[in-house]
Amino acid sequence: MVPIRLNWRRFPEGEQAQFGDVVDLLQALKENRLDLVTYELNDLAGSAASPDSPIVMHLMNARDDVALDAFQKRFGPLTDPLVEGGNNSWLTMNEARERFDLYLRIAPPRPNRIGLVNDLLASVSLRPQVYFPDGAQTPQIVLTAESLYDFMLMEIATIHQVGAVVTACSHCRKLYLTGPLTGRRSHAVYCSDRCRVAAMRARNAEKG
Ligand SMILES: [Zn+2]
Repeated sequence: MVPIRLNWRRFPEGEQAQFGDVVDLLQALKENRLDLVTYELNDLAGSAASPDSPIVMHLMNARDDVALDAFQKRFGPLTDPLVEGGNNSWLTMNEARERFDLYLRIAPPRPNRIGLVNDLLASVSLRPQVYFPDGAQTPQIVLTAESLYDFMLMEIATIHQVGAVVTACSHCRKLYLTGPLTGRRSHAVYCSDRCRVAAMRARNAEKG
């Protein structure tokens, strides 16, 4: 598949500014206080090249205002604050989370429901670019997303395309993906080895 990429800005680690305020955000941009970052969508497993993939699952697990603020500091704003009146520029993180939660429920992909997925994608803006990966002699094509919002929609499209499924961990309730491209078996019930072991210990303790 052609990799999807997003060149984005986020606050440096440890930055104390409140990110929810657009005025604060614009000020930080003007003062060059934001770090440049590149996200790439290759698979859904969180590889070395894109350890946080898919980003939309981090948003799904941000279940209160504090967590949503932390998400925004870590990954950047939903849309570019310099694009006035851009698509979805008025959306709050919480509203975006509710939307994506709904979009993720349009699953599994079936021919009669694929139109719903395409309705979501209709607003996505992607720009093709040819580039040389580090040290490579042959160029590659990449599709660059216009915003973090668009990038996360492409993550959701990929989740639907490959038939990955959102599952809640039986131990900690964290949401994660199972199935193709996720690096997890489709019947996995724990988000991590840590939770699998913790659940086993809890069961053993009950038995006494
Ligand atoms: Zn867990």
